[in-house]
Amino acid sequence: AEYSHQQELSNQALRQQRDELTVLNSALEEANRVRSQFLSTMSHELRTPLASIIGFSQIIMRSEQKSPLSGRQHDNVERILKNAQHLLSLINDVLDLAKIEAGRMDIKASEIDVQELLNSVVEETRSIALERKLRLSTSVQEGITTIETDPRKVRQILLNLVSNALKFTEKGSVTVSAVRQSVPNGRDDGVEQIAISVVDTGIGISSDKQEHIFEAFYQVDNSNSRSYGGTGLGLSIVRELTLLLGGKVEIQSEEGKGSTFTIVLPIHLRDQRFIHEMRLNT
Ligand code: ADP
Repeated sequence: AEYSHQQELSNQALRQQRDELTVLNSALEEANRVRSQFLSTMSHELRTPLASIIGFSQIIMRSEQKSPLSGRQHDNVERILKNAQHLLSLINDVLDLAKIEAGRMDIKASEIDVQELLNSVVEETRSIALERKLRLSTSVQEGITTIETDPRKVRQILLNLVSNALKFTEKGSVTVSAVRQSVPNGRDDGVEQIAISVVDTGIGISSDKQEHIFEAFYQVDNSNSRSYGGTGLGLSIVRELTLLLGGKVEIQSEEGKGSTFTIVLPIHLRDQRFIHEMRLNT
């Protein structure tokens, strides 16, 4: 009788613990939901006045021929515009991250042509490359045609990586290339993947910094990065979006030589779960 009394007590304690955990869990979920709702409302409320600051600064700059500004006024308007644009990209990045974290970023998959995808990313960043006198090109392995994924998200990932490559390269080139990879999966077909790499001949990242660069707001050289611009959120977004698409990001880099950022994506989105599980197991 003594024993079963003991047992009943410990069962009761266990039940109580479980109930407390359930309460805690739903409180956490609620807090998370409120947090991401708050972030998305805030971002929206901040974007509206910012759009007007940016718009009116641009109007002043454009009307300069008609009503000339003093050198000082010109510099000041330019500063307002630059900072407002920086703030806007910060808000957009924070909003994106919050959305992903809250699991509110949906995947809208379709079949897309890999060469066309790379071309569109390169065309969009061509003007920066020209301005910085860098070669910018694509290379797609023979036999690669399409990939089933979310085009907007892959574009966002690649635009982030290519912009970084162009930003942190003083001379040389930036190349975006796609090759096929296959992972054995125990069945006889294997999971087909595409590895898309952005290779630059830039300043590189030392190995002790490499593990940190995907952290939110991390910038290798704070003082330097400020002149480079950027929010320190780009690579966090790259990593989160790539995971969302069932892929992974890899980096190879050597200080002073250059960096290669590679995203590996499943060719068929249906393989997404498999790859994700495999990664968790290793
Ligand atoms: P940022 O807005 O500063 O570019 P990211 O999250 O995109 O933020 O990158 C974080 C940091 O990683 C950058 O500030 C930079 O120090 C480093 N980094 C990213 N890409 C490269 C690259 N291609 N070459 C050298 N350093 C890089």
